[in-house]
Amino acid sequence: MERLQKILAAAGVASRRKCEELIASGAVEVNGKVVRELGTKADPATDEITVKGKPIASEKKIYLMMNKPKGVITSASDPKGRKIVSDFLPGIKERVYPVGRLDYDTEGLLLLTNDGEFANLLTHPSHHVPKTYLATVKGVPHGSALERLQKGIKLEDGMTAPAEADYHDVDVDAGVATIAITIYEGRNRQVRRMFDAIGHPVARLKRIKFGHLVLENMQRGKFRHLTLSEIKELR
Ligand code: URA
Repeated sequence: MERLQKILAAAGVASRRKCEELIASGAVEVNGKVVRELGTKADPATDEITVKGKPIASEKKIYLMMNKPKGVITSASDPKGRKIVSDFLPGIKERVYPVGRLDYDTEGLLLLTNDGEFANLLTHPSHHVPKTYLATVKGVPHGSALERLQKGIKLEDGMTAPAEADYHDVDVDAGVATIAITIYEGRNRQVRRMFDAIGHPVARLKRIKFGHLVLENMQRGKFRHLTLSEIKELR
């Protein structure tokens, strides 16, 4: 959310000062309602903003994927002063936000965009985008434990949908295993809670796929723009 006069000025309507005058004069509407209050905040990606009845030019839509390091927060700001994803997007002037979240301690593939419709579509529960994670867990789960994840497991907020889960790497001596798990939902801390439920807490979590997008060897903390065909395929 940003101040209306800043949004209008950024969209090239007029100078910030002139935009304030336009707002005060009642020429600006947000979602069909006249707004005269100068401090009013709006979201240029989702709110319909008009000046004298005409929609303002929308910001160019951009679509990025990054390899989020752990220890970075996916919010736009952090009161505790921790690192945020936009610290890793040098040269990106558009105000992008993440498509779904990754926990502070989770690393890997994160999509970012300023296209609110696209973000809503991909995160809507009916869309079922497959997301694949490598979860390094304490102890080596039995096949029967993985079967419970595959069938759906009871969490506080209800049964999970069937998932795919398979061994990626097992170190019996160290007593750890890395499981590749694909889920089709996006509940809060879902993968961590699923492994807690089978008694194998997650020590490290990395998202390696989102839909057909694959992280591959993108370096930690780096990003790139998606290609047109990648964007189309995700829709
Ligand atoms: N599941 C989790 O537990 N954490 C994430 O960051 C993503 C999925």
